[in-house]
Amino acid sequence: MERAVLLRYHEIALKGQNRKWFERRLIQNAQKIIQREIGTKINVTQKRGRILLHTPWNPQVKTALSHVFGISSFSPMRMVETNWLSLEKAANEEVSQLLKDHPSLNSFRVLTRRSEKALGENSMEIDKILGAAILKNFPFLKVSLKNPEFRVGVEIRNESSYLWTDKNEGLGGLPVGTNGHLLCLLSGGLDSPIAALQMLKRGTQVSFIHFYGTPFVESQVLEKIEDLVTIINRYQPKAQPLYVIPFGKIQEKIALVTHPRLRTVLYRRMMVRISCELSKKINAQALVTGESLGQVASQTIENLSNIESVSSLPILRPLIGFDKSEIIKYAEKWGTYETSIRPSLDCCTLFADRHPATKSTSSQLEREEARFPVEEFIAEALGQIL
Ligand code: ATP
Ligand code: MG
Repeated sequence: MERAVLLRYHEIALKGQNRKWFERRLIQNAQKIIQREIGTKINVTQKRGRILLHTPWNPQVKTALSHVFGISSFSPMRMVETNWLSLEKAANEEVSQLLKDHPSLNSFRVLTRRSEKALGENSMEIDKILGAAILKNFPFLKVSLKNPEFRVGVEIRNESSYLWTDKNEGLGGLPVGTNGHLLCLLSGGLDSPIAALQMLKRGTQVSFIHFYGTPFVESQVLEKIEDLVTIINRYQPKAQPLYVIPFGKIQEKIALVTHPRLRTVLYRRMMVRISCELSKKINAQALVTGESLGQVASQTIENLSNIESVSSLPILRPLIGFDKSEIIKYAEKWGTYETSIRPSLDCCTLFADRHPATKSTSSQLEREEARFPVEEFIAEALGQIL
């Protein structure tokens, strides 16, 4: 009896010509992320529309698969010869094992899908026949088609069929590495880590840049950023680097000559310019930020467009329409919440007014920027990358 783990995927199945390439990427990503978790490389086979991982099922494999974008669901399953005797026997053994682990279960249904027409009966008939075979052995169980407490899943195929009782929801999205390379401006809050993860979900690879308020903020900030990068990198097949830009001294110099209420946006414009320069060096194609419209004074449409206008790359803002409560839900789901809420001071507030201007204009900002050497500060920052 062979056991394997069955991966299902939706969206990538729709990709026409590119489908094979997407599938290969998904397989490689799953292999790498599992290998990182369990320490050994696993074998994989591919059957039309399905991926089989040849590995025993255990909590580490489950954890690894819950970090792989592109999977719609996954099941530990066994492969069974496609004949009635083997199917009935296997179904009863699986149910017996399940009831040993969860004795209080009492309603079920069989759910068959005929991927290949190996048996004469249609899928509803197969449901009935296997259901009856299970009831014969476990007469205390009830069949419930609408609200079963567990399902026995069957996928009929010519060579061998698949059978499972456990189906885990996957992350969905596209495999990381199928949609380019982004640079995420990562601060220590709740938002930017979720912005990075949203873009990973769409298949991009993400590197990180942090503007570090040293020597005016404590080094705890940096530990927090590094911890967040470690969490996010678990979702990428290859961990991507964090670039830390010492920024406090530059902010201090900007603060000496500029209006306090414009400084937050001025800092952000410098961050964007520096990030665009770094992107050229590391071949990143766009920036990602955690901005959400109207969330704070610096995120009004006027300020966002004045930040955007100094960028030579597109700025992606996947959270633009999110409420804070939605962002928190993702932070809990994806595992960044506990780290993000650790107290820390972000450099944006350094030397800045507590009430930044909500309606900066480009002429105001340009006037302020004429008072300090923008290009020189960009070069200085890039020369000091940690
Ligand atoms: P977050 O929760 O991500 O910290 P926020 O709600 O605190 O965001 P802002 O402080 O206005 O909002 O920052 C908006 C975005 O600017 C952040 O999501 C992040 O992408 C970027 N950003 C802000 N500060 C930094 C920093 N020190 N280093 C890198 N990026 C930053
Ligand atoms: Mg912040």
